[in-house]
Amino acid sequence: MSTPPTEEHGRDGFCERLQRGNDAWASAYRRPEVNGSAKAVVLTCMDSRIPPLEMLGLAPGEAFIIRNAGNSVTDDALRSLIVCLTAMECRKVLVVGHTCCGMRCPGDLDRRVSEAVDVEGLSAGLGRSIEDLGDWLGFHHVPEWEWAERQADRLRDLLPRILPGLPVRVFTALYDLDSGRVRFAQPSQKRNMRA
Ligand SMILES: [Zn+2]
Repeated sequence: MSTPPTEEHGRDGFCERLQRGNDAWASAYRRPEVNGSAKAVVLTCMDSRIPPLEMLGLAPGEAFIIRNAGNSVTDDALRSLIVCLTAMECRKVLVVGHTCCGMRCPGDLDRRVSEAVDVEGLSAGLGRSIEDLGDWLGFHHVPEWEWAERQADRLRDLLPRILPGLPVRVFTALYDLDSGRVRFAQPSQKRNMRA
C-alpha cells in the first residue's frame, strides 16, 4: 500500500478537484468488455477541446486514440499505430485534424518553445542530432484540412511497406471547434491502401 505524496498532493486543490471528478466517474463506471471493439484507431491532436470518443459517438473500449501536437505521424504515433494494427487487429485508421490548431500558424508559440528548449540537451536526450527544432516539433503553415490529408497520405505510403499485406484503410476528417461537426473526406480508390 502506498500513500499519495502529500507534498505534491493538491497544494492548489488540483488533485482534489480531479479526485472529485473521478469519484463521480467511478460511481457510474462499467468496465468495457473488450479493448478496441471497433477495430479502429483515431489519430488526433492533443488540443484539450477535442473529445475524440464522444464527438464520434464512441464509448470507451471501442476505438484506440493516439494524440499528439498537431495529429502528426511521428515516430511515437507510428509505434502506437503499429501495435494497434497488429496486436489489436485494427483495420481502419482515422486521422482527425481540427480548426484553429495551435500547431498551424503558431504566432509566437514556436518562438516560446524554441527559447525554452536546449536543442543540444534535447539531441543528447534523444540520442540523435536535431537540426531543425521547429520541424521536429511539427509547427507548420498548412491549412488544417490539408495537414490531416498529408498525415493520412504518409500513412498510406508507409503502412503497406511496414506491414505488407495488411488490408488497412486510412481516412481523413476535420473537427470544427465552433460547430462540433466532424467532416469526413470522401475516400477514393486511389487513396485506399492496397490489401
Ligand atoms: Zn491542434
